[in-house]
Amino acid sequence: MVNFLRAIKIQGIGVGLLVREYGKLSSLDKFYFSFPGEVLMRMLKLIILPLIISSMITGVAALDSSVSGKIGLRAVVYYFCTTVIAVILGIVLVVTIKPGVSQKADDIDRMGSTPEVTTVDAMLDLIRNMFPENLVQACFQQYKTKREEVKLTNELEKNGSMVTEEPFTVVMTTEVSKNKTKEFKIVGMYSDGINVLGLIVFCLVFGIVIGKMGEKGQILVDFFNALNEATMRIVQIIMWYMPFGILFLIAGKIIEVEDWEIFRKLGLYMATVLSGLAIHSVVILPLIYLITVRKNPFRFAIGMAQALLTALMISSSSATLPVTFRCAEDKNHVDKRITRFVLPVGATINMDGTALYEAVAAVFIAQLNDLELDVGQIVTISVTATAASIGAAGVPQAGLVTMVIVLSAVGLPAEDVTLIIAVDWLLDRFRTMVNVLGDAFGAGIVEKLSKRELEQMDVTSEVNIVNPF
Ligand code: ASP
Repeated sequence: MVNFLRAIKIQGIGVGLLVREYGKLSSLDKFYFSFPGEVLMRMLKLIILPLIISSMITGVAALDSSVSGKIGLRAVVYYFCTTVIAVILGIVLVVTIKPGVSQKADDIDRMGSTPEVTTVDAMLDLIRNMFPENLVQACFQQYKTKREEVKLTNELEKNGSMVTEEPFTVVMTTEVSKNKTKEFKIVGMYSDGINVLGLIVFCLVFGIVIGKMGEKGQILVDFFNALNEATMRIVQIIMWYMPFGILFLIAGKIIEVEDWEIFRKLGLYMATVLSGLAIHSVVILPLIYLITVRKNPFRFAIGMAQALLTALMISSSSATLPVTFRCAEDKNHVDKRITRFVLPVGATINMDGTALYEAVAAVFIAQLNDLELDVGQIVTISVTATAASIGAAGVPQAGLVTMVIVLSAVGLPAEDVTLIIAVDWLLDRFRTMVNVLGDAFGAGIVEKLSKRELEQMDVTSEVNIVNPF
């Protein structure tokens, strides 16, 4: 399947180049030509809502019932911290390297125009969006503050505020810089786009609550588990259509390309993701292991070599799981009572490589669109990339599907995943490797931190966990 997908992408580029050279298509023809690709994007967007809702709720609810006291808590803290570190690393790299920014556009940006919103506005929007006032509305609209420069009338100058027909808060504000006075109207409004952040926050809380309700909450847990399974089956169907849609998406893009600089940018984007993955797996994870376990992390990583190689070959951390178990237990001698919890749960929710890639890709796409992201949007990307990596299944290119969630959260065109699809098959292999390595180090670290609990346990007893597999 993976080879087939790769072949399709290469064919997509080939078809695109051929049609571009010999096809002589009018703009209208080009529009129709991309139609099968448009259908694919519609299907991907369609699945976002059930995907977020079912995967977040079941993920958190399962975690709650499977976490066994301190051992489980340590694992979850490890998953969370390493994923957040990976996202921050990705953002720092992509903002520094700027793979998607053209030299010229950069110069223009630096000349400085009035920002649409300030950092404070952006942060307030972020918090507002985390707590939507209406769950149904959150499925299609998000709150957004706008600043519009206005000329004050006498009356407004007197009052300092005004009532207009704009939908929400309207405040007049004056900004004074050297010899300059600017007046702004701050308008809060709803704009189109799923409020992913609000839904994630709600689903997290909902998942925790039903996970803790025991017997009473079980019916809801079962319901969302069933919904999750149904959604995953639909995703599977979409995956079958994907090669066809991708062929036309890529060919359509190639026909449209006028600026061949995109390929230089794509190369830089790959270099950014790969260097982030390298730093995370060769510096950050080993350092955390060294500090906590005080053993040679590279020897541990070498013990995992077979699993890492398998991940590289098959791009699936779930399918690599049996090999990961064998390496962690037989080669690195990690306690089975630990691996049994940390590895399968990790393969499902702990994806450092995927989180890093999602953050870099979203900022890269923003740069390609000449969009300057404000602090609020960067934080939104960090939060949604973390959540999207938790929601991604451990199968090939699952990260590409959940990528649409991150793009929607900051109002970026979801179609632009097409820009990175061509190189995704390669990046997927390396990020899967990092995902597996993160789980393995996690098992070693949690084992070391839980030495006392393990000793206290009866040798024959088992950790009281519900294994999701
Ligand atoms: N292929 C990755 C994994 O299995 C998920 C992804 O990032 O697409 O871990």
